[in-house]
Amino acid sequence: MNAKNASPTEPPALEIQDLHVCVDGAPILRGVTLTVGRGELHALMGPNGSGKSTLAKTLLGDPAYQVTAGTISLAGTDITGLDTAARAARGMFLGFQHPEEIPGVSVLNFLRQAMGARQNIADLSILEVRMALLEWTAKLKMDDRFVTRNLNEGFSGGERKRNELLQMALLEPDVAVLDETDSGLDIDALRTVGEGISTVRSERSNLGILLITHYRRILAHLVPDRVHILLDGRIVDSGGPELADRVEADGFDAFRTVAA
Ligand code: ADP
Ligand code: MG
Repeated sequence: MNAKNASPTEPPALEIQDLHVCVDGAPILRGVTLTVGRGELHALMGPNGSGKSTLAKTLLGDPAYQVTAGTISLAGTDITGLDTAARAARGMFLGFQHPEEIPGVSVLNFLRQAMGARQNIADLSILEVRMALLEWTAKLKMDDRFVTRNLNEGFSGGERKRNELLQMALLEPDVAVLDETDSGLDIDALRTVGEGISTVRSERSNLGILLITHYRRILAHLVPDRVHILLDGRIVDSGGPELADRVEADGFDAFRTVAA
């Protein structure tokens, strides 16, 4: 825990208590407890099939993921029973998991809708959105022509991820769940994304981030406050950044032995 969230009056950004989740009747998450304080970056690591994306989708309220026990709280409010739109409006952001192309919808228009929903303003001024966008494309070192392009249409892997960072910055969520998917990012794109996350964190000091990753690679660019190891739907170990080094050195199987 760092000093930023020491105040007892401020509830944590994200609090997951004994979460059990079934998909198609099969139990996938089997009692996950995890708290991300305001301003903290937590990394969730685990092998393929351990349930990382299941947790991400459950947090955003995907109806295919059935919570059979436990609770999810966002900045002190129990959101376990809320749908995806209500969670997003309350400040839950899920990145990197929905990179679908949306033909005919520009980055600018998409963000105008999403920011309006988040700020509870039906008709956010397009100029205001454009100004905010240009401010953040500059901070994230993105080409500002980006904002007039259609959402994710023809975006490279790195552009999609930077676009997600842009959304994360502009929507001002309390919690961002970044399911990194470990897919298709070369070394340079990985560094850009890592630096982008750091830039957003430096300006959004309350933002709690749960960064889900299979590999340690992105953690070369970001220092997490906590690292958690997910195996077979349970967190089997939590610790500092050195846990990620252990994964690198010994693999996830080392934690399997610990858990047994
Ligand atoms: P990870 O992201 O850690 O690789 P997942 O959460 O994607 O793991 O998957 C965990 C387990 O849940 C796997 O056995 C997977 O087959 C199952 N699972 C996840 N989503 C679904 C789904 N929509 N339908 C059926 N099984 C699923
Ligand atoms: Mg996954």
